[in-house]
Amino acid sequence: MTGGSVLADRTRNLLQPLRHLVLDVDGTLAIDENLFPSTKRFLEILSGLGMTFTIITNNSSRSRREHCARLDRMGIEISKEQILVSTQATLRYLKESHPEVKRLFVLGTPGLQEEFIAAGYEMCESRAEDEPDAVIVGFDMSLTYERLCRAAYWIKNGKKYFATHPDYVCPTDQPTVLIDCGSIISCLKAATGREPDAILGKPSPQMLEVIRKKHGLKKPQIAMVGDRLYTDMAMARADGVTSILVLCGETTRKQADSAQPSPDIVVADPGELGSMLVLAKHAGNSSDENSRS
Ligand SMILES: [Mg+2]
Repeated sequence: MTGGSVLADRTRNLLQPLRHLVLDVDGTLAIDENLFPSTKRFLEILSGLGMTFTIITNNSSRSRREHCARLDRMGIEISKEQILVSTQATLRYLKESHPEVKRLFVLGTPGLQEEFIAAGYEMCESRAEDEPDAVIVGFDMSLTYERLCRAAYWIKNGKKYFATHPDYVCPTDQPTVLIDCGSIISCLKAATGREPDAILGKPSPQMLEVIRKKHGLKKPQIAMVGDRLYTDMAMARADGVTSILVLCGETTRKQADSAQPSPDIVVADPGELGSMLVLAKHAGNSSDENSRS
């Protein structure tokens, strides 16, 4: 499906009722510290159409405050309320499902630890005497061998073990591979034989449910826009909302074409989605007028 001047009926019917978009960041709106060329215009189109959005990201290496600051540097001004990180899903899960957990060994950046401290948790140091109730693994860009070994020790000793998200790598256009939370989980599995007791963030549909309830949205009024089949699109499917895949990140056209089930809508980038929304909404207005006349 491409933008063009005419939309397929199915695409138009999916786009017309949308009031709120849930937007992934890395590979969808931006790469590293740069917005894609069409991102700003796309957000202006949303605003012009009276649509709202929530930024959703599995990147638990930054706190919400740090995510807002990064987006601000790139030219997107949003409030903390407009961003949901896998860390918030993890905190919510801990409060609801494991209220007995108070002391944490967090294999994560200072930004991740900042969120747990703000939520009232006590941070354990990397010492055998400082015993946690649970181990949390995130996208630890400040990883040290010593702390990795300490996490493995507590996991091997049967402590509760949770991870913020499953992504193996973080997208980058730099000559490197950014090893993400899922790869750290794989390393810990090799060392201890254990998988996390729960992995929050995308594709767990919990974050979409939180956004729907917060804004009072019915499922046809919200869509998930992202670049990954196994997180963004899987999450939309699990929650039963419209899935929109962008091809400016991880997924190639070939992979998108062979995906089972396929995303509801596939676009090249945010710019194409913006154009399609304008077409769909205008078609909606004229059909409303027709139906009234
Ligand atoms: Mg992404």
